Amino acid sequence: MTETVTNWAGNITYAAKELHRPHSLDALRSLVADSAAVRVLGSGHSFNEIAEPGADGVLLSLADLPDEVDVDTAARTVRVGGGVRYAELARMVHEHGLALHNMASLPHISVAGSVATGTHGSGVANGSLASAVREVELVTAEGSTVRISRGEPRFDGAVTSLGALGVVTALTLDLEPSYEVEQHVFTELALEGLDYETVAASAYSVSLFTDWRAPGFRQVWLKRRTDQPLPDFPWASPATEAMHPVPGMPAVNCTEQFGVPGPWHERLPHFRADFTPSSGAELQSEYLLPRPYAAAALHALDEIRATVAPVLQTCEVRTVAADAQWLSPAYGRDTVALHFTWVEDTAAVLPVVRRVEEALDGLEARPHWGKVFTMPEQVLRARYPRLDDFAALAAELDPAGKFRNAFVREVLGC
Ligand SMILES: Cc1cc2nc3c(=O)[nH]c(=O)nc-3n(C[C@H](O)[C@H](O)[C@H](O)COP(=O)(O)OP(=O)(O)OC[C@H]3O[C@@H](n4cnc5c(N)ncnc54)[C@H](O)[C@@H]3O)c2cc1C
Repeated sequence: MTETVTNWAGNITYAAKELHRPHSLDALRSLVADSAAVRVLGSGHSFNEIAEPGADGVLLSLADLPDEVDVDTAARTVRVGGGVRYAELARMVHEHGLALHNMASLPHISVAGSVATGTHGSGVANGSLASAVREVELVTAEGSTVRISRGEPRFDGAVTSLGALGVVTALTLDLEPSYEVEQHVFTELALEGLDYETVAASAYSVSLFTDWRAPGFRQVWLKRRTDQPLPDFPWASPATEAMHPVPGMPAVNCTEQFGVPGPWHERLPHFRADFTPSSGAELQSEYLLPRPYAAAALHALDEIRATVAPVLQTCEVRTVAADAQWLSPAYGRDTVALHFTWVEDTAAVLPVVRRVEEALDGLEARPHWGKVFTMPEQVLRARYPRLDDFAALAAELDPAGKFRNAFVREVLGC
């Protein structure tokens, strides 16, 4: 490939024979039909080789396809093209007086790439972003279009699919009436005596942040819908200045705090659409566990603080409601998600990632598909009871394995 393509973090340079940016659906179909190995690159915000087609494969970007966002106000749904990012989608949906149920920490990511990896925000009652999807439109290996809708038997394999079933050219999502959110930030929450269930349920979306340089949490972010009760939060003190989750970073990159109400899409993400999200120079990992294991997992991390802290920028603790997608890290269980923003030094970070995985051993942790992890296929196989169903679906839609790259073969064994 003449052009060098890297992911957002810059830790992966994709191996590929060619990069294509088709301008039309017909061109995309022909490219797929004529290629032996294909992967789509979304907005490139994953931290591993999940999007890499391999040296003989074709990397497809949908960035030059028309940005389709068709809101159906009567049905309260939106049909969104395969290359569209949450920032554009949210703006359009809001203009129609409607809303998504949740967003990730940043709006810069593509919708198709996000739901493919099980990307999530926070909230005990909020499913991952994929839980809003009601229909997937795929261009499959032969170049034909397949639509799979909620309620069909294979739907539960079709959304969080790691990009292994075909090119997602459109998704239809559920919407709800627009709502406003206030963001309240608190500082210094103790781990000792923490009733995580109560804290996590104290607002629509709750995030705890720590650098693990000391016990407990440096920040708590509560996102309250203004149509829900004002949270009582007696366990920590209200912040006196605007905060960034990464210590030392400017809060100007972050969404408005201090309880100022604003539209859902300008409060649910931590980071503003027109600024760099997070720290920008980083790697990330995340592990999703059954929520009843939250206290055990947090104490296990506290015990290895001295190992984790030197390579950590921030650790975020969120919740995700159970869903039914076979490959979702929240499949079948209400979940606590332990996220790590590391320094951008793979050699220093990988041994610590392994140490975190050891510390969480026995707590049924599933890794975020788009982030750095070292768990091998046999561990993942034990954690994902529907893996064989997914392998059968992939074989049905793509018998020759055109969309199954080295990452998928390695982690799923199919
Ligand atoms: C700063 C930052 C903050 C983040 N915050 C969160 C967070 O709050 N919550 C969370 O859960 N995750 C978070 N992530 C992780 C991120 O959401 C995921 O990695 C997500 O997959 C990114 O979407 P993308 O389009 O950039 O995906 P890419 O990395 O481009 O692709 C991911 C996968 O989707 C596939 N894919 C993409 N588009 C298509 C398509 N049209 N058809 C078929 N397959 C497709 C790719 O082939 C690949 O397998 C964060 C990442 C960063 C960099």
